[in-house]
Amino acid sequence: PGSFVHTSDDNIVKENDLVLIYISKTNIRPLVLHKEGRMNTKYGTFLHTEIIGKEYGSQIGKYMNSNQVNRGRKHQKKNGVQEEEDEKKFGFIHVLKPTPELWTLSLPHRTQIVYTFDSSYITERMQINSLSNVLEAGTGSGSLSHQFSRSCKRLFTYEFHEVRKQQAELEFRQHGLLYQDYLDGKIKDKNSANIIINHRDVCKDGFLVEQVENINGDAVFLDLPAPWEAIPNLNKPGVLNQNKQVRICCFSPCFEQVDKTIEALEENGWGGIEMVEIQGRNFEGRKRMVKYIDDAVKVLSEQKERRNVGSVNFKKLKKARQELENKSVTEIDESNDLKRFKTNSTPKDEKFNPFGKGLRIKEGDANYEWSNVTKIESEIKSHTSYLTFAVKIFNIDRQE
Ligand code: SAM
Repeated sequence: PGSFVHTSDDNIVKENDLVLIYISKTNIRPLVLHKEGRMNTKYGTFLHTEIIGKEYGSQIGKYMNSNQVNRGRKHQKKNGVQEEEDEKKFGFIHVLKPTPELWTLSLPHRTQIVYTFDSSYITERMQINSLSNVLEAGTGSGSLSHQFSRSCKRLFTYEFHEVRKQQAELEFRQHGLLYQDYLDGKIKDKNSANIIINHRDVCKDGFLVEQVENINGDAVFLDLPAPWEAIPNLNKPGVLNQNKQVRICCFSPCFEQVDKTIEALEENGWGGIEMVEIQGRNFEGRKRMVKYIDDAVKVLSEQKERRNVGSVNFKKLKKARQELENKSVTEIDESNDLKRFKTNSTPKDEKFNPFGKGLRIKEGDANYEWSNVTKIESEIKSHTSYLTFAVKIFNIDRQE
């Protein structure tokens, strides 16, 4: 089974290729390349001709002007630690071959979508392989359809919103995935052109389609507000493969939906029901400044003193102390504080407060002490839903 179609095997980006431009982790842009095309990014304008002819995976760089550098300098950390990226004066993009995973990250959203965290588990759990006929409703933005299409023999996908169906169909066509285009001789590769998209309300009108007498579905995925209304329609002859175990997965955000789905599954002869929730999280390695109790005590006692003497007097007091301290640096040799902030023990760095706002320190600055930590991305890029799995065996006598 194919992925997105590529016209050549030499790994070189050609005119009219659909490429995915990786600008940053949260900004991946699909682009069809034309000789006269231009693409504006935060790093400046890239001509398509700068991309055509490069090898897939190439990094393409651009010197940024000062405006572009400043635009990228907006991320400041609360605790005074500045992200390393901010210092970049050279912007990079990467030119990538489309894959279902990258498409999921870059596609135009018309609905909530299924992310790779879920889709990889769903594909494995439903044992979808190159011999599987898969039924999917609704198509939505086609995120999961791309993943299924790569792994299965044929995908029957259903969408009752007409405009949404047309937009998904157009994308499947552009990506060389429509079975109809294979039948019409527009596409040679039968394996990659495996999607049959239908404009259909599966709750009212079921799954059977005119073009195919026997769908013989091996796996069913329902991402609908009311899957329990569609489940009885799977019993119609010709919809599911009656000669083997058929697997179903229903994707619902609320537990009340799960409840009704399970009821419908049981009533319609499905067994082995299990509910799973996937939580996708990215972990990244970062550096965290080592902070000492002495520093915390100092900050707290300064706050107390400021309250007692008033803010104006406190500033005068602090300035006088600093002058005294600077004079005595050579005499005192190394006090506790000076040991740690040795090379920074200038009056300017006195503004640095490891517990609050003030002077920004670059993450990993060699003049400070750091520990390596793991951080979880604050935003989880997965639409958390409950996955209800079940199995149906039509003719138990014929199972091994
Ligand atoms: N799984 C899709 C993806 O990854 O892009 C997203 C599906 S979206 C959340 C749900 C879709 O189901 C919507 O586009 C909606 O129009 C469609 N839908 C809802 N009820 C339907 C029905 N009874 N028959 C067909 N499609 C339906």
